[in-house]
Amino acid sequence: MNPETSDTSLFKQVLSTILPSAKAEAAESEETKRDLQAKQAETTQSLKALETKQADVKAERQKARSAHVAAYKQLKGQAAQLKDLKQQTAALAPDKVMMPATGRLSQGYGPASGQFGYTFHNGLDIAANVGTPIYAAAAGTVTDVKSGGPYGKHVFIEHEIDGEKWTTVYAHMHKIEVKTGQTLLQGEGIGQIGNTGNSSGPHLHFEVHQGEYAYSSSSAGNTVDPMDVVEVLGGASPIKATY
Ligand SMILES: [Zn+2]
Repeated sequence: MNPETSDTSLFKQVLSTILPSAKAEAAESEETKRDLQAKQAETTQSLKALETKQADVKAERQKARSAHVAAYKQLKGQAAQLKDLKQQTAALAPDKVMMPATGRLSQGYGPASGQFGYTFHNGLDIAANVGTPIYAAAAGTVTDVKSGGPYGKHVFIEHEIDGEKWTTVYAHMHKIEVKTGQTLLQGEGIGQIGNTGNSSGPHLHFEVHQGEYAYSSSSAGNTVDPMDVVEVLGGASPIKATY
């Protein structure tokens, strides 16, 4: 055997065995490299997409934060407005007792000469034209409606104010527009000013009793000066009497 020949053939043999696999390996490595490059490109793209998304999220979050801040500011503004409105409403709230009619004070509350049969005038006289509307001085229930005697046509209304009973009387009316047992809101119309009973000209005689109605021709009895009650229990009256 020729060693050279045999060497060559062995080399060839080895070569023929290794070469294809080396070639294949080289090809494979090239393919892997391409794969890797492709993957790298893909990853870069994904990264870019992620960055874009992150920026979007950041912008979205910023937007949400701004919206939240704006909403909070608006809410704060609304709370302030609500507070103002509440104060305005409280200021506009009707008095506990208000003047029942607009007119001219023709006789005040207090001692009287006695020429009309009483030495104490336990109400206010509000002079106005016949037909001038009369309103309930406070929310309550009509306890009596009468059409004769010194008071002429008159109405009694019972009220509960801060847990206490009060009674108001409206006398010398021209027309009565309520019935006994009827419940009224403050300021609801009850009739018209007139000149019925012991009256020498159209006016409303208005009495305020602390508790039930009780009459005294010579003292205040349980009456109070309506002007004081309006002042004590109320404030500015929505129905202003012009005195
Ligand atoms: Zn009077």
